[in-house]
Amino acid sequence: MLVFDKNGELFLEHVKISDIAEFYGTSTYIYSKKKIIDNFYSYKNYSKFKKMIICFACKTNSNRSILNILASLGAGADTTSGGEIYRCINAGFNPNKIVYAGVGKTKDEIEYALKNNIFMFNVESLEELETIDNTAGKLGVKARISFRINPDVDPDTHSYIVTGKKGTKFGIPYEEAENAYLIANTKKNIKIAGIHFHIGSQITNIKPFELAAKKIKKIVDIIEKNKIKISYVNCGGGLGIQYSKTSVSSEEILTPKLLIDTMFTIFNDKTLIFEPGRSIMANAGYLLTKVIYRKNIINNNKRFIIVDAGMNDLIRPALYGAYHDIIPVKNHGNNLKNNVLTDIVGPICENSDFIGKDRILPVLSQNDLLLVTCAGAYGSAMSSTYNSRPLLAEVLVDNDSLILIRKRGNYSDLTSNEIYLKKRINK
Ligand SMILES: *Cc1c(COP(=O)(O)O)cnc(C)c1O
Repeated sequence: MLVFDKNGELFLEHVKISDIAEFYGTSTYIYSKKKIIDNFYSYKNYSKFKKMIICFACKTNSNRSILNILASLGAGADTTSGGEIYRCINAGFNPNKIVYAGVGKTKDEIEYALKNNIFMFNVESLEELETIDNTAGKLGVKARISFRINPDVDPDTHSYIVTGKKGTKFGIPYEEAENAYLIANTKKNIKIAGIHFHIGSQITNIKPFELAAKKIKKIVDIIEKNKIKISYVNCGGGLGIQYSKTSVSSEEILTPKLLIDTMFTIFNDKTLIFEPGRSIMANAGYLLTKVIYRKNIINNNKRFIIVDAGMNDLIRPALYGAYHDIIPVKNHGNNLKNNVLTDIVGPICENSDFIGKDRILPVLSQNDLLLVTCAGAYGSAMSSTYNSRPLLAEVLVDNDSLILIRKRGNYSDLTSNEIYLKKRINK
């Protein structure tokens, strides 16, 4: 999908990358509609044969046009806040395909979700259950719930994105699961619908999924012995992607097919829910940025390339030490003679403000464009205006057309919600 033509121009589908910079400036997030659809179908294809619901984890990318694409393909949504429920309904998701997880759902958020008749709450504590029961009672409705169970497995990923291990804040401890279901079964305004687990993110091996599922299956059997019906098993998200062509080979990458097959082998009589986020959006998005300045650190034999995207725009390298491939938009061919060890850094006053470290890149000039790959998930969605830098423009590439899906922020946006103290406060 990313290809250089014979003149050395880089294209995404049928759109020239340098045109995007010309029309919309830099830095800019770019998404391929085709790739989003293909990735979604890498899950959805199996729904012909299996009872399953695919709920896109919208925290990975919540632009309303992106959400609308997925809603129109029949996706459900996995949400983590009232704001996400609002966005999803607004973007065309059917509320009866919206699931809602999170350790800290407030009463207001719960009320909002109930009023919109969402499909299911993934409940993470008994106190939360109490709040949901009370709120549903006041509204005169029944709340459908799953408990999110922490199966205590180690998914072997970055510690910041481990969620299914003992000692993390997520879910109900494995040992307390049966009791939680017995309590929920006594609540007047609660309808038990299923069970949920989500063990972490960027997992590239089937083993932790399999281990977690087997533990959850045991709990399901125990609960059902108590005459409580579990209709839905929600296996969460977490499927990893290949961020670098060199670090993980494509054979090692876990596919949706293997994940789905494995889960249906364990839970053969259930309707399964999957909550993919990263594996739908990450490799469908790019961050286009431009070289501002260059610095040579002679004795270190290293060069700094300062670009106009910073950690406020893409925080993953600073936050998790994440790796993103960085491609010069101008084709330098296979002439590696002039390649140099390079750190690609942003303009922000933090030492952690980098996009890529120790990369071997060709000699670059001021104003050269660079494309940061696999930036479609947890990219724009995690961005901020730190250092008072306006939010970036976002564009969607659809075959040969280029569609602006978020306007670039401006300076007045930065202060638009702030209240100016005209009067001095008297001391
Ligand atoms: C973040 C999250 C997901 C999505 O995880 P990915 O690794 O992006 O697939 C799914 N379910 C829950 C509950 C989450 O918090």
